[in-house]
Amino acid sequence: MKGIQLFALCCATAATSAALPEQYVLPEMGTVNTHALSTGNLYPAIARPWGVGLWTPQTVPNGRERWFYDYTHPRIYGLRHTYQPSPWIGDWGAWSILPLVGRPGTNAAARASWFSHKAETMSPALYRVYLAEFDVTAALAPTAHGAAFRFDYPAADVPGFVVDTFGLGEAALSSDGRRVTGWTRGYTQPKKYGTNLVQRFVLELGRPAAAAERLPDGALWVRFAPTSARTPVELRVGTSLISDEFASRSLAETAAGFDAVAAEGRAEWNRLLGRVRVQSDSIDRLRVFYTCLYRALLFPRSLGETDARGATVHFSPSAGDVRPGPYFGGTGFWDTFRALYPLLNFLYPEMSAQMMAGLENCWKESGWLPEWSSPGLVDCMVGNNSASVVAGAWLDGVRGGFDINELYRALVHGANNAHPTMKSVGRLGVEHYNAKGYVPRDVGINESAARTLEYAYDDWCIAALARAIGRPREEIDLYASRARNWRNVFDPARRIAVGRNADGSFNAAFDPFAWGGDFTEGCALHYTWSVFHDVEGLCEAMGGRKEFERRLDEIFALPPKFTSTYSHAVIHEMREMQVMGFGQYAHGNQPIQHMVYLYDWTDAPEKAGRRARDVMDRLYAPTPDGYCGDEDNGQTSAWFVWSALGLYPVCPGSGEYATGTPLFDRADVSLPNGRTLEIRAPGAAARRFPAAPAPRVRRADLLKGGPLLFGSAR
Ligand code: CA
Repeated sequence: MKGIQLFALCCATAATSAALPEQYVLPEMGTVNTHALSTGNLYPAIARPWGVGLWTPQTVPNGRERWFYDYTHPRIYGLRHTYQPSPWIGDWGAWSILPLVGRPGTNAAARASWFSHKAETMSPALYRVYLAEFDVTAALAPTAHGAAFRFDYPAADVPGFVVDTFGLGEAALSSDGRRVTGWTRGYTQPKKYGTNLVQRFVLELGRPAAAAERLPDGALWVRFAPTSARTPVELRVGTSLISDEFASRSLAETAAGFDAVAAEGRAEWNRLLGRVRVQSDSIDRLRVFYTCLYRALLFPRSLGETDARGATVHFSPSAGDVRPGPYFGGTGFWDTFRALYPLLNFLYPEMSAQMMAGLENCWKESGWLPEWSSPGLVDCMVGNNSASVVAGAWLDGVRGGFDINELYRALVHGANNAHPTMKSVGRLGVEHYNAKGYVPRDVGINESAARTLEYAYDDWCIAALARAIGRPREEIDLYASRARNWRNVFDPARRIAVGRNADGSFNAAFDPFAWGGDFTEGCALHYTWSVFHDVEGLCEAMGGRKEFERRLDEIFALPPKFTSTYSHAVIHEMREMQVMGFGQYAHGNQPIQHMVYLYDWTDAPEKAGRRARDVMDRLYAPTPDGYCGDEDNGQTSAWFVWSALGLYPVCPGSGEYATGTPLFDRADVSLPNGRTLEIRAPGAAARRFPAAPAPRVRRADLLKGGPLLFGSAR
């Protein structure tokens, strides 16, 4: 009964705040997943935009499990603090809190409570659930460095809660019963993070506890004295990666109490999501759009903390001590350079500037720019795409609080060196690439064609940045000439990207359907398009505009077959391509996500909009299985946000966006310069495809504000 009341209350709130975008966000979108098939590989992230930690209900028993949430599971094991950017990377600093009554079970599985999504409120700034086993309603409202909780306990039974550090930390109650102080390493993939990261937390109890007891599995049970009437207890938590003192200082974020924290969180989300205002009669489209925008504002996480003098400092995962300034972690540039960072630069450049300052700190502390950070350097994927992220920010006009010359030095270092142990940091195979113009496939380096293609684009980024900051001519020319290296893995006979041997011959056993090998999580059919900076050149190399268009069409017409070079045969990205019904257009992974917009370089640019609309309509849904593969830290969501606005950054850093067709008749974008971009596409919502004003538009023109009209008046 309690649950039904909560649900009704939630709906009433939504109806009275219809203009506020946060109400359309569905944190559960993309949360039904297995190792074999991803529909997002997400958990409901209850969090502040770019805050340090995230919170989520945990619906699997083992806290060390990386797939710790699945929407279809009927029991909750705790409200979990997490930093996990992706289950493939794993978690760190994880722990959970579970309110309950009576003596708890001796392990997580024995303590869990049944629950129903019908008795649950899920939104970015507030999570509330009825824990049926205990007749307790638990609510949480996150801050940047903590959260406020409210646990509504029934009368007469012994109210309490369990703090579980999953055997990787500990927690203790203070002698006055008012605070629980704890720490955890909480690693689910220990080898990836080093050993010095410790998450500290201080829980302040709104009512003094009566006692605490360590359970057989190491979790701490804290109990209150029973009450004669239903009584809520508020708890506030502050966290830190530095010290208990910093964690205590974080408690200030929740000083105003639960309701105020929840209201402040909702206001913050509305303020940020509200920079794009779309009109639609379709609640489904509003939900997908704002859910995607919300996912684009979560990662990377800002690890900065405020010291006693009010300055921002951070715990450096590389240096192992406290350093000045901001720091960010929890993103993989191989995924996110494509659409996410251009979106942040366009809509939230003040955050991009902080992220650049964070990258500068990472460079100074580790000697490298990260390619995957969580929060230190993580060895995952390929490439050197920090070049796109850094150059793209500067060329998109991001300024303030960082030294671009220092970051340029970092790019040049990364472009000319391989990390001694990590294959994805710097450039593996750089000695071959710089000597021959490509990474050979037969020198013991995997994914050689993919590396070559990405290095070539990254070199274009470095050249463009070098030009913008006035570097010497020969330096600009060097990188500009390396930017043409994509041609070295383009087989002119087969007219497709093919791995190449050290002697110059192309792979004789080439199979266009083969995933892995010379490519990364995809095949040549997907990777050949990775010439973001020279689409004209690729078009010519393929045989001209007509042939280029035919090849684009062919991707959708080919069967979704695959052959595998992986030892474990089928990776989930293959399966996701196979089941989608889009032929070889594997939108569930990143390499091909810009491809539909390449029609803008053909004589049929309207196909870009039609294909993009098809993808928006069929591969995104406001449901728990609503994505078509790993969402990947805002990238697959940023694709939707751009596409719904009728735009896409095919080549980050170019100052140019390809056009498609908007999803909404009207969208108003608040630009950082105070102007408003008014995207108008009459008829768009009614399944027409208003034509773009031009195949590509300049960023500088959009920043002037005013109308951008799709579709003629016919
Ligand atoms: Ca991916």
